[in-house]
Amino acid sequence: MAIEQTLSIIKPDGVAQGLIGEVIHRFEKNGLKIRALKMIQLTKTQAQAFYAVHREKGFYDSLTDFMSSGPVVVLLLEGESAIEKNRELMGATDYRKAEPGTIRADFASSIEQNIVHGSDAPPTAQTEIAFFFNHLEKF
Ligand code: UDP
Ligand code: MG
Repeated sequence: MAIEQTLSIIKPDGVAQGLIGEVIHRFEKNGLKIRALKMIQLTKTQAQAFYAVHREKGFYDSLTDFMSSGPVVVLLLEGESAIEKNRELMGATDYRKAEPGTIRADFASSIEQNIVHGSDAPPTAQTEIAFFFNHLEKF
């Protein structure tokens, strides 16, 4: 057990569905503190860079179109076991397999349009936080 930081993104579908407040409320009431936050729209090139780990996958082009299709809210979350905690609150990638009461089970509309992103491990969390936030934007 340790205090960790992780990156969350409320994806374009979550923003479009008016779920910013709902998602942030779930983070805060489950002990995840917000250390940075902003709304931005990624370019296609930026979305491709963020998801570069998936560049060989069949869903990469559609995913990066979707992720650059509208504004997103990017958050730096901090708390006890924050990476795993956030993944628990999100639910499985495929919303049909996500635990009831998770963000994806409650709100996702497809395996692609699944409302939230969350870092999957400490090294990726650090890389993803640095992708979006500089030292002046973090508290
Ligand atoms: N994705 C998709 N089709 C798939 C698997 C993933 O469109 O078969 C999308 C989905 O939006 C997912 C993102 O690609 O959230 C990144 O996939 P990953 O396996 O890293 O899932 P996550 O870490 O987001 O649960
Ligand atoms: Mg992932």
